[in-house]
Amino acid sequence: MSKTPSEKATGSIREGNVCHQVNMVAIVLKGRLLVNRMALTYADRMYDVHCHIDVLQAVPNQIRGLISSGIKPSSWVVNLERARQWPINICLGVHPFFVEETTLDDLNRLSELVSNPFVVAIGEIGLDYHKQSTVDRDCQIGAFQRQLRLACSLNLPVIIHCRKAFDDLWPLLEAFEPTGVIFHGFSGSVGDLNRAIDRGDFISFGFPITYDDNKKQRTYLADTPLDRIMLETDSPYMKRYGFETSTPDDVRFVYGSAAAIKGIPLIEMISSVRENVRRLWPALREIRDYP
Ligand SMILES: [Zn+2]
Repeated sequence: MSKTPSEKATGSIREGNVCHQVNMVAIVLKGRLLVNRMALTYADRMYDVHCHIDVLQAVPNQIRGLISSGIKPSSWVVNLERARQWPINICLGVHPFFVEETTLDDLNRLSELVSNPFVVAIGEIGLDYHKQSTVDRDCQIGAFQRQLRLACSLNLPVIIHCRKAFDDLWPLLEAFEPTGVIFHGFSGSVGDLNRAIDRGDFISFGFPITYDDNKKQRTYLADTPLDRIMLETDSPYMKRYGFETSTPDDVRFVYGSAAAIKGIPLIEMISSVRENVRRLWPALREIRDYP
């Protein structure tokens, strides 16, 4: 794999030595400085490609656009209502945590709901074998296959949630090959990351790249080519360090850190993600057009 700009600028970030630690702290601080100095100016050009607007009372107004994820039937309803009120984009699906409580009728309803024009993907869907998840694995696989089939039939990309389950996930993804794949909150191995990049999938990074102690996520971002990177908040579930909650407007902190890690100007990071978003969705709805 070729060297990334950040590696050229700071030395290899894979080295586990003192120099490396100093470099990583410098990168984190530089990301925060970028946010303080520049990100507010540019915030209205940023996309948040993965968030949950279910609890928001007003449309986020410091970003260009967002994709909110409806993860179970009650959440589909809220997301659809919001998308009728606000110029946002949504994806609908059954998160692996909720597949056991979802009925066949619900899944049939999902097939109808996703024909709404502001539904831009099926998601977040996937497999979660983390010890926190007690959901039956066969049930997860069955629901995932069904939703992959739906995505393919409508030519919609999929937004993937996968924890500790990549061995089962790859054959399923490769059997269906949906039109676009975005891994949100990527947590696989280096091998999984390289496999996703080689397949042409997108990796969406969030607040973990801004945390002082998350070297792994920063290394993953450094090793992912710019044309495969998307950025997200996963708000309100993922939080800014030291804060109780987050909103899509906080995505500027993720952009600031991503630019610093890549060693490129913030504006270049913003246009790169925007270009990637447009490759998948040429006509995403944008908040800046909202009165
Ligand atoms: Zn999410």
